[in-house]
Amino acid sequence: MTADPVAIASELIRCRSITPDEGGALSYLQELLTRSGFEVHRAIFAEPGTPPVDNLYARIGSARPNLLFAGHTDVVPPGNESAWSHPPFAGEVAEKGLYGRGAVDMKGGIACFVAAALDYLEAHGGKPKGSISLLITGDEESVAVNGTVKLLKWAGDRGESFDHCILGEPSNFEVIGDTIKVGRRGSLNGTLIVTGRQGHVAYPERSDNPIPGLVSLIAALQAPLDEGNEHFSPSHLEFTSVDVGNTTVNLIPGEARARFNIRYNDRHSQTALKTLIERRAKTAAAGHVRYSFEWQPSNADVFVTKPGAFTELASVAIAEITGLHPKLSTSGGTSDARFIKDYCPVLEFGLVGQTMHQVDERVPLADLATLTAIYRRIIEKYFDAPLATLAD
Ligand SMILES: [Zn+2]
Repeated sequence: MTADPVAIASELIRCRSITPDEGGALSYLQELLTRSGFEVHRAIFAEPGTPPVDNLYARIGSARPNLLFAGHTDVVPPGNESAWSHPPFAGEVAEKGLYGRGAVDMKGGIACFVAAALDYLEAHGGKPKGSISLLITGDEESVAVNGTVKLLKWAGDRGESFDHCILGEPSNFEVIGDTIKVGRRGSLNGTLIVTGRQGHVAYPERSDNPIPGLVSLIAALQAPLDEGNEHFSPSHLEFTSVDVGNTTVNLIPGEARARFNIRYNDRHSQTALKTLIERRAKTAAAGHVRYSFEWQPSNADVFVTKPGAFTELASVAIAEITGLHPKLSTSGGTSDARFIKDYCPVLEFGLVGQTMHQVDERVPLADLATLTAIYRRIIEKYFDAPLATLAD
């Protein structure tokens, strides 16, 4: 193999790229990819109230299909560095593998894709049959406003288009090959506010306690939202906080609030979901409880890449390398795939997520080798398949 994924991952880990700092990680990739014939661009995005963030887009080839790999080099902070058995930004190899913040989430995944792409190019005279692109952001782990969403638009404005995307987030649960993520549930946050009238606790007839009303509405909103379907588990509403803010023992509060989050599947849209929740509250309130809702804006809509030629191609490649038949899953939190899906079909496949964001985040060297072999096989198959076949 031309490029060693362990060496690339280790170099990336040595860059202290805690969001929003680039830390040298994108510059390292830029150098490596430029040397291998990619045309590499950097784009810094900023917005009032957020720090500017550096991003990278690289492409080799000009023909279709354009296979896009997406990922992020930023990492979450290491926490207490002295709790690590190997320093979080040293990229050291020990008996349990390569240690460091970002080893699995997701510098390791980027290293495997880069190694696979370089190996493919070397075997094919330095040029892909179509195009290989990388879209790498430095703003995924934090607010994610100056990253993938803007980089996709930036690339689109330059006339770039993508046929299929692999997002290299850690998708597997136990072993490499057990899970491809083909979609994500949507996420919606809201607050339920019940209004009463404040008063002395000894004279309840002169006040109106909002707490019993809030309790009855909370109970009503716990009813199931749906039963799920072939791609998704049931949608789920979870109360995350109940707040009255009353520090006094002899006061009936004037207002009570409950915050909640809904993880919803593709049987709902955000608008329909809000209507459903508000209708349930109205029924439960029965004209006796004064209430209102505040909904937070959400850019985390539900999506699913329906099984087809692209997911099949990836599944077969995974089976050929690992002997496993991956589950097509939509579980877990949201990811940048929610932005990519507006440009092309996207699936998520990367390392095993077990140690991500933890002290002693690490990746077994065998996993890096396996993932590189899988990506390599996917690239080969992708450019062997006629584009029309992939488009189903
Ligand atoms: Zn990640």
